[in-house]
Amino acid sequence: MPDGGTSIDTGNHPSIYLFIISLVLTLTLTTAFISTGWASDVGGSGQRLVGHPRQRFPLTIYAEPAPSHALKAAVDDAVTQWNQVFERVFHQPAFAWTAHQAGADILIRFLRSAHLPHEMGETEIDADNHGVIRLPVNINLQLPKARGGTDVSQVLFDVTAHELGHALGLPHSDNPSSIMCCESGAIDFKDPATRAAYIEARRHPDLYSAGPDIAAHYRKFWSQHYDGS
Ligand SMILES: [Zn+2]
Repeated sequence: MPDGGTSIDTGNHPSIYLFIISLVLTLTLTTAFISTGWASDVGGSGQRLVGHPRQRFPLTIYAEPAPSHALKAAVDDAVTQWNQVFERVFHQPAFAWTAHQAGADILIRFLRSAHLPHEMGETEIDADNHGVIRLPVNINLQLPKARGGTDVSQVLFDVTAHELGHALGLPHSDNPSSIMCCESGAIDFKDPATRAAYIEARRHPDLYSAGPDIAAHYRKFWSQHYDGS
């Protein structure tokens, strides 16, 4: 700390200082997620059961160069964690990176200005009459604004993991702890327990919790719509 006579000395009160930082982080994360929501961030599929034929996996995925190493790491991590979930459930990865944009099944782009009015990410889903998702699937990620102590990489990880779930065919969940939470208005953020569960899941997301959802989704899709065999 400088020795300026008017500066506030927090050196003797580390616990209070940390508490203030923690509070700011909580508020900024809350603001970032709750004020934006993820309503209508997935277009085209509505409430239909949509997905990919089994033999399509792993889906090839291409991401345009990220603006920073931290953001690249966040996207890489989201893909890796979805692969781990898929390998546990289906014994194969969901995604395989490709260095070539042409022909990639999933395309991730970074929007550098406010193209998306409310959301931090969007996924464009188009499907045929059988619910088979048409390729490529475009995911647009809007770089989150650095506000206060917001962990931008954490926000981008959460948004990427959520949009990748849509790219796999998952709809929104009503569970505030799910990475696929939620349709706008589906949960009551005024309820303290719901709000706390939501914020905790954004700060410490667990994609394995989506394992049962993705298993049930594809058990149904592959049996009813497209067995892929
Ligand atoms: Zn969504």
